[in-house]
This record gives sequence, structure tokens and C-alpha cells, in this order.
Amino acid sequence: MPIPTLDENLRAMRPCLWVNPGRDDAAHALPALPIRYSAIEEAEARWRRFAPLLAKLFPETAASGGLIESDLIPVPHLQRAIMGDSPSGTWFLKGDHALPIAGSIKARGGIHEVLEFAEGIARQHGLLDSAADYTALAEPAARQVFARYTVAVGSTGNLGLSIGVIASALGFRAQVHMSADAKQWKKERLRKRGVNVIEHAGDYGEAVEAGRRTAQDDPFSYFVDDERSLSLFLGYSVAALRLRDQFHAAGIAIGADAPLFVYLPCGVGGAPSGITFGLKHVFGDNVHCFFAEPVASPCVLAQMSHPGHPGISVYDLGLDNRTDADGLAVARASELAVQTMTPLLPGIFTVEDDSLFRQLALLHAREGIRIEPSAAAGIGGPQMLLDTESGRQYLADNGLAQHMAQAVHLIWTTGGLFVPDEEYRAFLERGRRLLSAT
Ligand SMILES: *Cc1c(COP(=O)(O)O)cnc(C)c1O
Repeated sequence: MPIPTLDENLRAMRPCLWVNPGRDDAAHALPALPIRYSAIEEAEARWRRFAPLLAKLFPETAASGGLIESDLIPVPHLQRAIMGDSPSGTWFLKGDHALPIAGSIKARGGIHEVLEFAEGIARQHGLLDSAADYTALAEPAARQVFARYTVAVGSTGNLGLSIGVIASALGFRAQVHMSADAKQWKKERLRKRGVNVIEHAGDYGEAVEAGRRTAQDDPFSYFVDDERSLSLFLGYSVAALRLRDQFHAAGIAIGADAPLFVYLPCGVGGAPSGITFGLKHVFGDNVHCFFAEPVASPCVLAQMSHPGHPGISVYDLGLDNRTDADGLAVARASELAVQTMTPLLPGIFTVEDDSLFRQLALLHAREGIRIEPSAAAGIGGPQMLLDTESGRQYLADNGLAQHMAQAVHLIWTTGGLFVPDEEYRAFLERGRRLLSAT
């Protein structure tokens, strides 16, 4: 039987691992990109300037001094449940499922972009004096200025939650265009905070387009463009600097003998590409990032494997973009993500919805950790690399096979903190049923 081509696997919704033929060494690839390392440092400096204000507006961040960061979590029981006794390095989660304020990875990009916008408005209006005490932005004088502006966004749910919550906390008007995939509880959570939630019958791309149009002709309207935004990308990239410090504090040295593998759930591509960009600057060729997409919505894989068809969507491949991973239900990739990842990203794998629920239940059973289905997409990553033909080929081609006992596998869990109990119970039941059937 002939080996199925990539497109055949994608059309048949068969989980697969694609290795990117366009990848280059970090030393060649990074200087050729239009975004510099200094831009990551500027974003990090912005987070630090705003930290006192965030600690004031969101008491749940006071303990971390107003910095929004997640834990590095060892998961030996999950590792054993999946890999048994075969040597498979050391596994961790990067726990963005518990990020405060937004409850997902969108706390990194979304909040950063609204802070950058607020900072610009504040400077323009002389609200930040020379002492630059950012807590002044919580005072009535600043809020009156912010209240003249609307911050708008299109979202499948989580970006809307992030933007809506931070924008309304600062006193902006907030308008969130939600796609048909967006969960009811996410809309209700926003409406309770006074956010204007506009529901669309179409997919994510249509919700984004509707938001972009509304904001277009209004000088008091600012649109957060998830398909193109550099500020979102840089907000995400800061995670790499934080992760470097966390590994250092934990006594873990990443290097040629101890490579780092990172598995990132991917929707439009903004979050995983921003993080990968940062990680490449920090760890160079010793980090290997893989994106995880649902079999029904592999939009970044579709675009990166068809560079001759700009704007290709998963519909063009005959897929329907219907997945229970609502955070990843995106039909067309971000151009910025594709542009930056073409020379940097080792590969992308796809995941069936049933696997997401199985892994969600497994993580709960073995480690007591609660995540949403989208956030489980990376959990199958180590097996994709270690137990598939193309994964083993990648390790062999890159001289990694002999270092795998010392490898560090980092599974980025991207959301779940605010999932209502009732919803989570239903996820868990579905996952448990599937686990007991195998
Ligand atoms: C948005 C999201 C992602 C992926 O981010 P993109 O920028 O859309 O690629 C992953 N997981 C969760 C839970 C998300 O909400």
C-alpha cells in the first residue's frame, strides 16, 4: 500500500506529525526575521511598569507583585501513565491553565496589548507624570479618559475573556465579537463585567472581520487583531524569559546534552509562535517546539505545508473546522505566525478530539490538574516524537536520539481556570468513558 501523503492524512483527519522542511539554524534564522530580541525585553519592561497597577486592580496577582506568570509543574505520574518504564527524559507542564485574570494563555498576549494601548493613551494625555507611578491609572482622572475609548476584539472565547476583563478593569468600553464556537459561560462571564458581547453565527475568522470593520472608521475604537498583531506576539514571547529563570531556579540546565522539547496547543498561531520566537532566542538550537492542532482545524499546518497557497484554509482541504477544542477552532492561520515560524519551527502534529478528553481525564486522575479540552492538545506530544516514524526520523536527523534520556519535555497547558464545575464534570465523564473503553 502506498504511504499516504500529508494532504491525504489531513483530509482523513488521521493524527500525524509533520516535520517542517523550511527550518534553519537559530543563528541564521533569527537575524533574518523583522522582529528583534530587544522587542521581547521592551515587552517585559512594560509588564514590570504595569505590575503595581495590576496588583492593585487584581488582588489575586498581589502575591506575585502584579506579575502574571504560571508554574513549572513536574508530572512524573502522567509521564509514567503514558510511557510506562521506558526512558523518556523528564516531563513538566507549563501551567498556563491557571494564569490569573484570563484563566488561559491569552493572559499573556491579550493583556499585554491592552496595557500597551493604555500606556500610549495615558502618555498622550499627560496622565503619567515624571515619577511614572502607574497606579495613577486607576484614579478617576485616567478612567475618565479611558472611558472615551472602545477596545474591540474577535474571538472564539478565551481572547475575548482576556481583553474584555482587562479593558473593562481599566475603564475602557469593551466590545467582544464571539464566533459560534464560543461557550455560553464565557459570554456570560463577560456580560457580568459590563462587556458588550456580540454573537456571530459564523466562525472565528468572521468574528474577527466583524470586529475589524466596526473599529475601522472610529478614531476612539481600538481593534486587537489576533490575525496580525505584533503586540500580542510580543506579550506571549515574554514567557521565554520567565521560563529561563524557572529552569535556572529548579537547577535544570538545558543544553546540547539535555535538549528541551515544547508542545504548544495552536489556534490561529499567535500564542505558540510568540512563545517559540522567545524560546529560540533564549535556548537557540537546543529547544524544539512543536505545535498541536485539532484534526478538524490544522490551519497553521495547512498554511506552512502549502507555502504556494497564501490564505489557504482548512475548508480548502475539505475539513469542517468543527472541534470541541473551542480555543483552537480556527480555519485560517495568522500571517505573522507563519512568517516567523517558517524558519524556526521543527513541526506540527494533529490531535483527535477524543484524545483531548482522554488526556484531560488522565491528567486529572494522575496529577489532580484541571484543564479545558484545548489545553490538552500538547499532552500527546512526547509520544508523537518518540513513538512515530516521523518523530524518530526527526530525532535521528538532528543528532538527538542519543540525548533523549536527558531530554526535558514541556507540555504547555493553555487554559481551564474558569471552566464552570458543571462543564468540567461533563469533560471528565467523557474522558473517563473513553479511557475505560481502551
Ligand atoms: C487561544 C488558545 C490557544 C492558542 O493560541 P493561538 O494564538 O490562537 O494559536 C491555545 N489554547 C487555548 C486554551 C487558547 O485559548
